[in-house]
Amino acid sequence: MGQSSVIKFYSGEQIPLELHKVRVVQKLNLKPVDERLQATEASGFNSFLMSTRDVFLDMLTDSGTNAMSDQQISSMLVADDAYAGSQSFDRAKQAVADVFGKKMFLPVHQGRAAEHVIFQALVKPGDVVPMNYHFTTTKAHIEIPGGAIDEIYTDEALKIKSTFPFKGNIDIGKLKALIAKHGADKIPFIRMEASTNLIGGQPFSVENLRQVRAICNEHKIMLLLDASLIGENAYFVKQREPGWQDKSIGEILLTLCDMADLVYFSSRKVSSTRGGGICTNSVELFDKLKDLVILYEGFLTYGGMSVREIEAMAVGLRETQDETCISQSPSFIKYLVETLDAKGVPVITPPGGLGCHVDAGGFLPHVPQSEYPAGALVAAYYIASGVRTMERGTISSVRDANGNDVLADVELMRLAMPRRVFTLSQVKYAADRLIWLYENRNLIGGLKFEFEPAVLRFFLGRLRPTSDWPTKLVAKFKADFGDSL
Ligand SMILES: *Cc1c(COP(=O)(O)O)cnc(C)c1O
Repeated sequence: MGQSSVIKFYSGEQIPLELHKVRVVQKLNLKPVDERLQATEASGFNSFLMSTRDVFLDMLTDSGTNAMSDQQISSMLVADDAYAGSQSFDRAKQAVADVFGKKMFLPVHQGRAAEHVIFQALVKPGDVVPMNYHFTTTKAHIEIPGGAIDEIYTDEALKIKSTFPFKGNIDIGKLKALIAKHGADKIPFIRMEASTNLIGGQPFSVENLRQVRAICNEHKIMLLLDASLIGENAYFVKQREPGWQDKSIGEILLTLCDMADLVYFSSRKVSSTRGGGICTNSVELFDKLKDLVILYEGFLTYGGMSVREIEAMAVGLRETQDETCISQSPSFIKYLVETLDAKGVPVITPPGGLGCHVDAGGFLPHVPQSEYPAGALVAAYYIASGVRTMERGTISSVRDANGNDVLADVELMRLAMPRRVFTLSQVKYAADRLIWLYENRNLIGGLKFEFEPAVLRFFLGRLRPTSDWPTKLVAKFKADFGDSL
């Protein structure tokens, strides 16, 4: 169903095309550079503390920020508002069955709520959960009931520059060794995350999942699939994995989900709404989880979601089968990554599924990790462009028991690309200002904490620059751009 948004141009130009039209618009503010500097200072050099009033393009996250379709919005008007037995739920359940191939469905209020319920039911103290890579909320919810995670990604996964098409694969050799070391009874399940979020939205292959499934069968271990970004993973399979070019996204989705005993997802991502869900064909698993859903989320036909969201989720899940919809964000990301890469800006390759990830370590080699290069780059880029991005580096980690910073494996600035939100000229603008910044990178200095919360410091922490570098950056911007914003 649908077609990819990569269309052949007579001119030979390779650009993605918006295969939708814009019918509701929101005015954006591109403020002058002096005001952008003030807004950065007022937010403690932390993009989480900014108001969208000061933001031009909001590339902070893809969570809950995808554009909804006209079909989704109109479905909300026919929602069946009932505490129990709502027909909206029946429609969502049918969509889950058609798209993911799982007959039993438990709605929850968002992705992390699914993790809370599943891991509380399945993880015991001392358990180890192997996975291709963790997500922040996943790790926390496995550790609360006393479990630990073990990431067994391949050697390619953390390389910035790579041509490996499936950086989200699990390393099969390491998985076998891990099972031999701990014993299958210490492993409640293996978790595979589609389009691994924290390493750049990178997919795994069908072949890799098949190998994992075979190991699960051999050792009688369950396989869990985090399907929050499964649409993009299916798209990459079609693009990159031999033998899948002629299959539809719908067929690939069913193939992937069929291998998992349990599938869960954040609807904030996969279906461009709110909410989340858990689905399975196992009565035993369903029975284990359903009481916890009632306890923590709500009755089984709404699970903490409004029925309007459930309706829109059902439509959004079906749109995940549509290649036109699902290819939009990856094709824009590819365009952005290739544009930046061609100018020497260090970005993660190959392009992934939820955003463009800039290697702040390579961008700012003169800023030591103790001065948070990724955080500094986020602030500098906002000053240069009005584009809000997210730090994924040392600020996003926590201090060790002695109070020392735990330096991140990689210092990244993420430009998230919510689905069908930005136009190509906006993406070109984002690239243009970042290329300018790269050519002026020697002007950017570091940051230090002014106020540092004990938990999840990246959300509410306040920082300040280690010198007057932001003022110098603004002066250079004015020299180069004159009166232009
Ligand atoms: C966002 C995300 C989650 C958590 O979902 P929320 O709806 O934000 O709670 C879990 N797993 C992955 C892979 C995600 O990207």
